[in-house]
Amino acid sequence: MPVNGTGAYDPQNVFARILRGELPCRKVYEDEYALAFHDIAPKAPIHVLVIPKGAYVSFADFSANASEAEIAGFTRAVGKVARDLGLEAPGYRLVSNTGIEGGQEVPHFHVHLFGGRPLGAMLP
Ligand code: ADP
Repeated sequence: MPVNGTGAYDPQNVFARILRGELPCRKVYEDEYALAFHDIAPKAPIHVLVIPKGAYVSFADFSANASEAEIAGFTRAVGKVARDLGLEAPGYRLVSNTGIEGGQEVPHFHVHLFGGRPLGAMLP
């Protein structure tokens, strides 16, 4: 069910539990600012989620409230993951569903990184 992108942070959300090591993930990359792991239900040959380490509900929350260092660190991590996965030359797509009408399901800000095949026209 879609979630409110501006509500209070729920520390029991699935990505918070992954960050705390309470649930497993197929990790791709981790640094001070970000964790990247394979989506459990991939919608492309490469479908990786990149999440900030900080407790941000959505892109709306992250873009308004994260520090400059967190925003820079997270953005650089997304680029590095795409590069390390060999997606820079063929290209890739970044998506962040935000709030109810954006179709966000997990209330911890995340960027979907899709690649590995021609992705066609922009969704929806
Ligand atoms: P949507 O489900 O509409 O894509 P989101 O943008 O909130 O909504 O994306 C949540 C993503 O998290 C989904 O692609 C889902 O497959 C993925 N996901 C949910 N639980 C896990 C998990 N435990 N490990 C990895 N990915 C997960």
